[in-house]
Amino acid sequence: MPEAPQGSGVVHLVGAGPGDPSLMTRRALELIARADVIVYDRLIPDEALAGARADAELLYVGKEGGGDSVPQEHTERLLLERARAGATVVRLKGGDPFVFGRGGEEALALRAAGIRYEVVPGVTAGVAASAYAGIPVTHRGLAGAVALVTGRSRDDAPGSLDWAALAGFPGTLVFYMGVSSLPQIASGLIGAGRDAHEPAAIVEAGTLPQQRTVLGSLATIAQEAERARVRAPSITIVGAVAGLAEELAWLRGGPLAGTTVAVTRARAQASGLARRLQELGARVIQAPVIRIEPLPLQPLDPSGYDLVCVTSANAAEILYERLVAGGRDARSLAGAKLAAVGPATAEALARRGLRADVTGERAVAESLLDALADVPVTRALVARAREARDVVPDGLRARGAAVDVLELYRTVAEPLGEREREHAAAADYVTFTSSSTVRHFLSAIGSAQALSPGTRLVSIGPVTSSTLREHGLEAHVEAERHDVDGVVAALLADVAGAGTARASSGGTRT
Ligand code: SAH
Repeated sequence: MPEAPQGSGVVHLVGAGPGDPSLMTRRALELIARADVIVYDRLIPDEALAGARADAELLYVGKEGGGDSVPQEHTERLLLERARAGATVVRLKGGDPFVFGRGGEEALALRAAGIRYEVVPGVTAGVAASAYAGIPVTHRGLAGAVALVTGRSRDDAPGSLDWAALAGFPGTLVFYMGVSSLPQIASGLIGAGRDAHEPAAIVEAGTLPQQRTVLGSLATIAQEAERARVRAPSITIVGAVAGLAEELAWLRGGPLAGTTVAVTRARAQASGLARRLQELGARVIQAPVIRIEPLPLQPLDPSGYDLVCVTSANAAEILYERLVAGGRDARSLAGAKLAAVGPATAEALARRGLRADVTGERAVAESLLDALADVPVTRALVARAREARDVVPDGLRARGAAVDVLELYRTVAEPLGEREREHAAAADYVTFTSSSTVRHFLSAIGSAQALSPGTRLVSIGPVTSSTLREHGLEAHVEAERHDVDGVVAALLADVAGAGTARASSGGTRT
């Protein structure tokens, strides 16, 4: 093996699992969070890159639609170049990197170049999609072996498969990449003597919210797939175990099954909303168009205020960091009443041991002022984002209080990748959790016209809705409660056809 050049980096060949992001391994998540460079394919979970560093270089090398993928040599060259430059590279692949993932070829190239590499196995689609469809690939008495088979040979035709050997295989056959050649696979196997009545199943988009299973026998499965318009990615399972699917299928589509929802909020904050939507069965497109950037500030001494207002969950977190940076802790707020703009901010405070004395009901500045109506105040501190509205400070000043505004962070644009942009613009729903997500999303996709006509826009509240309106767009759905729970509830109601929460009743507006 040649000597690795000075300063050489490392390449991790990482399996990202079959699609459900919760099937990614802990090691995969760790490496993604650390990587300087992530080189990824098409069939990785949408959420796989969510934990990447903000400054990581993300390089897409898969194919889109019917287009060409980046040639393998180019991908390998990219890995070598980045590693030689000293980078920690994650080469992220769907499923397992060594199961039809060309991970072996990449490892050989790295080895030849003397570059250090690590292989992180992933949950492979053939096993995972089967499991999610209720098909155990081995089963005592039914299948004592399982073969993972490519439905495609090197020259892109299934003609060169050894049908006799496959027909005689004493166990389950799991075909990858075989949707378009299903008729040839079935007839090849039957022609070589495999029982035409043997159960067969196709699992499309296994482990994803839009997973579908089509059942049949070896004789009928190609026709059934055609009728159901099965598309890639799908695996085909041939064997007695496929007959267990009817009895063992367990996956229940939630109320949002089959619905794609784009989440535009900052990556660091998106996971709560994304997770909730996924649990309800939605397919979530992460399209973080903003990033929270703490502003450089002196350590904070909050003594001397009789009211401290915190107007976002981010402000709660950063406020606390500032206290700690000055060698203080929660006790330094003991003399002041603490007010949170809404329940999510109150929760963020509570996580730091701070109980809000006053919480706005609907998480808008106006509702916080209402909640503060009976609280006497002479000197107030308002901890907030740079771009926050002046409703709270103005309202308190109008009541005769001296108010200091503490700008803790600002919201900056985060560029979207091409794939995120396309997927988000075509989603069934796009969620907007602040005015800045509206502005930055529209500038990321180019214009409001780039949105697909069927896309419904979900707004967290009246302020965000009016920002949409300024851009010529109308929110189809507006949350009643202006936080993540409210957004999820409004979306559920819309999907259920229960009306567009408050869309017509007119909320508080400034
Ligand atoms: N390395 C991957 C396989 C890559 S080959 C793995 O270990 O899973 C790509 C093929 O994998 C697809 O054509 C399809 O047959 C299968 N596949 C990948 N993801 C899938 C999914 N979510 N559901 C069904 N099949 C899938």
